[in-house]
Amino acid sequence: MTDSLTLPQKNWPVLEPGWVWLCGAGPGDPGLLTLHALNALRQADVVIYDALVQEAILDWAPNAKHIYAGKRGGKPSAKQRDISLHLVELARKGKRVLRLKGGDPFVFGRGGEEAQTLVQHGVPIRIIPGISAGIGGLAYAGIPVTHRDVNQSVTFVTGHDQTGNATSSLDWKAIAQGSQVIVIYMGMKHIQRISSELLNAGRPTSEPVAIVTTATTEDQRVLETTLGSCVADIDAAGLEPPAIICVGRSVLMRQVLDWQGMAAGLTPRNLDPLDRGRPAESA
Ligand code: SAH
Repeated sequence: MTDSLTLPQKNWPVLEPGWVWLCGAGPGDPGLLTLHALNALRQADVVIYDALVQEAILDWAPNAKHIYAGKRGGKPSAKQRDISLHLVELARKGKRVLRLKGGDPFVFGRGGEEAQTLVQHGVPIRIIPGISAGIGGLAYAGIPVTHRDVNQSVTFVTGHDQTGNATSSLDWKAIAQGSQVIVIYMGMKHIQRISSELLNAGRPTSEPVAIVTTATTEDQRVLETTLGSCVADIDAAGLEPPAIICVGRSVLMRQVLDWQGMAAGLTPRNLDPLDRGRPAESA
């Protein structure tokens, strides 16, 4: 299996002993890895991976030792320090270290903190970006994170801070009033609070909301709801994290762009979901 995937001709970077490469694994589907990630998996002695990394991806590093460093749901950050120091220790032992993180390592993934610790300890690093769940996960649900007819900006927020509490440093009022589309990571635990903040700041109860869980994997589920009903609907559907929550009219585009549904034989529900009364293609 591993050998059937040949990297195209290029001077691929060499993962030298004593280096740590911090690499994004994408949101789930192994096909969403980058070629740099594959190149890294081929060379690593050790792969330290997170909870959100699909185990199938590790099959592409059959000769490496696989170490699980999972932690979920804003547990105390002491463990984060342990992970970073473990990376330092492995590098100092002369290992070729691949730190594999879900999505993109620099998007709500503490990759920046790990990179910082490595640099502070004099360990050389390389960063390999990945497809973030807030973009790729929505795309798998047929939701374009930007669309010229919907939004000229998008706001990515995290639903909880380092302590696991609802993010207190966020100005939800400003976000509600200034963001056309809001993409929320780690939002399930505090969805009640987040939705009321947005409603209190003037977003309508009818505002479209989509929740995409385990996006891009075989277990992906998508719930379309509204800001006013999302708490009850999430509960009724029994949805569990990891989930990306998208608030805004981009969600409506799924009515025509649900490509996975179409592949399964469903026809688009509404060819002009924005109800603009003009052809979707007009300039
Ligand atoms: N670095 C990651 C985000 C890490 S924070 C990235 O760029 O995607 C962890 C959160 O990401 C989860 O709580 C969830 O909100 C989101 N997430 C990651 N993978 C996901 C997936 N496959 N489906 C839905 N949400 C996902």
